[in-house]
Amino acid sequence: MIPYDVWAEINLAAIAQNIRNLRAGLTNNARLMAVVKANAYGHGAVPVARQAVAAGAGCLAVARLAEALELRYAGLSCPILIFGHTPPEMAGKLMAFDLIQTVYAYADARDLDRRAQADGRTIRVHVKIDTGMGRLGVAGWPDSSRDACGEAAEEVAAICGLSGLRAEGVYTHFATADSPDPAGTRRQLETFLQILSALERRGITFSVRHAANSAAAINLPETHLDMVRPGISIYGCYPSHEAQQSGVHLEPAMSLRARIVHLKRVDSGFRVSYGWTEQTREKTLIATVPIGYADGYDRHFSSRGRMSLRGFPVPVIGRVCMDHTMIDVGAVPDAACGEPVLVFGRDTRGTLAADHLAQALGTIHYEVLSRISARIPRIYKSGLPKGNDI
Ligand SMILES: *Cc1c(COP(=O)(O)O)cnc(C)c1O
Repeated sequence: MIPYDVWAEINLAAIAQNIRNLRAGLTNNARLMAVVKANAYGHGAVPVARQAVAAGAGCLAVARLAEALELRYAGLSCPILIFGHTPPEMAGKLMAFDLIQTVYAYADARDLDRRAQADGRTIRVHVKIDTGMGRLGVAGWPDSSRDACGEAAEEVAAICGLSGLRAEGVYTHFATADSPDPAGTRRQLETFLQILSALERRGITFSVRHAANSAAAINLPETHLDMVRPGISIYGCYPSHEAQQSGVHLEPAMSLRARIVHLKRVDSGFRVSYGWTEQTREKTLIATVPIGYADGYDRHFSSRGRMSLRGFPVPVIGRVCMDHTMIDVGAVPDAACGEPVLVFGRDTRGTLAADHLAQALGTIHYEVLSRISARIPRIYKSGLPKGNDI
């Protein structure tokens, strides 16, 4: 019996299997960097990182310095790349914890370089090139008014010339790898490779070139290069319809459950929750479950979301509160206090995909998963969920 009224069950065996399935499809012996940013997309950074390394991920990636430090404090010793910006004042942490920092602007790189030289050490870096995402990266996308390729190569070369930095890798990020049309991704890849050729002509090469997120890793083998950077797929979610058709099997790793903590029989016309925005259409049974918007269960699920009780769909009735949500369980025979309701994921009676919840909100499963808050306990399992576990 799990001593919680709300919890996320994380199936680490599924994560390991997803990584193995992804690795089986990689070309040229490409390495796999497991992306565990945002608390491993809500799954818990440290347990997922340990499992990913055990399943063959050679390195890890996070968005922020604090996320990298959490992994180091937990004893993870593999290479860790920070995708985001780190304030130069924190350069000491990068060195002390042997982290790999992304750099994409000469001025920042120079700042890190000075601090490294002052310490008589070097900072490991991967240089990021923007080939059309418009986010972080040395500007390298084709531009009619200038020689973008040459200028990007110039700036990257300048960064690589800083003796306090060790430029081990170079990468770019795709904006449309999850779209049915691969043309944009192919164009970005071509731009990236052109800039790398220009650098090579200047005698600058990198030991690791990488570009592919989950969608590209699954559908566009030519993007694998030396390493791929899957995130969502290692958690068992397909990044796109095309990826779902690809034949790569992925198993969702998270199931979120909340127990019924109160039941009330109500008449037709009974108004429920803040604002009395919805009323019952017949006599029914209303269950209260202790999950709310502060847990990451979006308030837009008010009168719109659906959970699952013993395989029966049970609709959210009225507004989602901070800590609680009410569901109409009138259609479920003998619904009882203490019974676990599936918010998403799977149980023995079926599956409620995070993707379906995302569609109801007009968002993507990335957001549904990553917003499951720290207040939800994570229970780690190493097998598929069984009904008698709950
Ligand atoms: C988040 C992220 C990834 C992983 O993307 P998925 O679509 O989850 O596979 C890869 N690279 C970068 C730079 C990212 O920010």
